[in-house]
Amino acid sequence: MLLRSLVDPVPVVVERCEGVSPFVFVCEHAGLAVPRALGNLGLADDVWTQHIASDLGAKQVARCLARDLGSTLIYQQYSRLVIDCNRTHIADSLIPKVIHGTKVSGNNELDPTERMARLDEIHAPFHKEIEQELEIRRIQNTPTILASIHSFTPKLGNEERPWHIGVQYAQNSVFADIVMNILREDVKLCIGDNQPWPVNETDDYTIPMHGDGRNLPYVMIEIRQDLIATEGAQKSWAKKLAIVFERASKEYYSHA
Ligand SMILES: [Zn+2]
Repeated sequence: MLLRSLVDPVPVVVERCEGVSPFVFVCEHAGLAVPRALGNLGLADDVWTQHIASDLGAKQVARCLARDLGSTLIYQQYSRLVIDCNRTHIADSLIPKVIHGTKVSGNNELDPTERMARLDEIHAPFHKEIEQELEIRRIQNTPTILASIHSFTPKLGNEERPWHIGVQYAQNSVFADIVMNILREDVKLCIGDNQPWPVNETDDYTIPMHGDGRNLPYVMIEIRQDLIATEGAQKSWAKKLAIVFERASKEYYSHA
């Protein structure tokens, strides 16, 4: 079954595939596209501007940040409501039927062929691109740090989330710890240590697969969405993070 047609965008965009810095940035929840064949997944128009459809502001920050550092960026163009590219094949939220209380009727009762089409045409090409980039760098002995950029909603249900930024990791926290220590120099910043949620090794895909799986240093960053709601704020966070990442990589390699 072919899900995507010629009118649909390619699933993955790579910027600066010959990035000169150690960082390879990925942004799994950057996109809002839905293959035309799936209509609007049965969802109201206002859903597409909410955090459940994409990580608001994350792509813009990731693009500025990667550009400032001369780094490769790989981002997904389709909405996580079509298929979540940071979920394993066995995760319930891979193709969410309900997400934060919103029912996604277009994801109900998919037959195995429909499910496979989303995996084959959106999820797999995205991770293949990351895999290839990391493999080339491994063969060329290029120092590499994987960084996954996300954003989170300030309020989830009744829970107010106080952190400005979350720094997340799974088995290897070495690079994340360096990033957190540098961020802590700004005493006004509320930093979530493995918040708003830790990397889930059963459900999450990118960090377990490409970070711990390849034994690479890595970090996952979540920025609170209200802080990156404008172009100016996105650029200023990207600038701030570029300085942090630059320092963190020097520190990491001076000890490595
Ligand atoms: Zn995300």
